[in-house]
Amino acid sequence: TSPGTDLAGLIAEVADYPTPGVRFRDITPLIAHPGGLAAAVEQMVAAGPRDVDIVVGLEARGFIFGPAIALALGAGFVPARKPDKLPRPVESVTYDLEYGSTTLAVHADAFGPSARVLIVDDVLATGGTAAAAAELVGRLGGQLVGITLLLELSELGGRERLTRLGFGPVTSVL
Ligand code: 5GP
Repeated sequence: TSPGTDLAGLIAEVADYPTPGVRFRDITPLIAHPGGLAAAVEQMVAAGPRDVDIVVGLEARGFIFGPAIALALGAGFVPARKPDKLPRPVESVTYDLEYGSTTLAVHADAFGPSARVLIVDDVLATGGTAAAAAELVGRLGGQLVGITLLLELSELGGRERLTRLGFGPVTSVL
């Protein structure tokens, strides 16, 4: 669609958000740009696996890219949600954040054993969120075929953490 779109230039850097010392990458200018959204989805699809039954998108920004990628791959979409959002029985994983902990959940019957599952999110930082999602995929019996991100903050070691845990392959565009 828009091979010339400068995706990195469409991401805003916000100092000291949400807490002092953090430089937050805000993707909202990128998705507001028609060529930006199209190019991001196209490149995320091109970087990752093609033979996918289910895309698991991580709340909340994985809900922006995940369904678009699922459509491109002919896959279904499953939301991995924060606590108390899903109405039926769930499988859940609680994991540590910098301060405190949080939980990610999927419906326990969201996909069957042997489904080929791709995890999608916007940003990979420490890898804790993606690792929790990968753990959920395994608990449901799915076969993890990849983890696709728009942006990887490589200095935070997320890729190494996921690789150490046996989760991947990890592909990112920026
Ligand atoms: P991790 O668990 O890898 O440390 O953090 C990744 C999760 O936090 C992702 O769900 C991602 O959306 C969010 N996140 C962490 N840092 C940033 C950031 O700088 N920008 C955006 N857009 N999301 C971030």
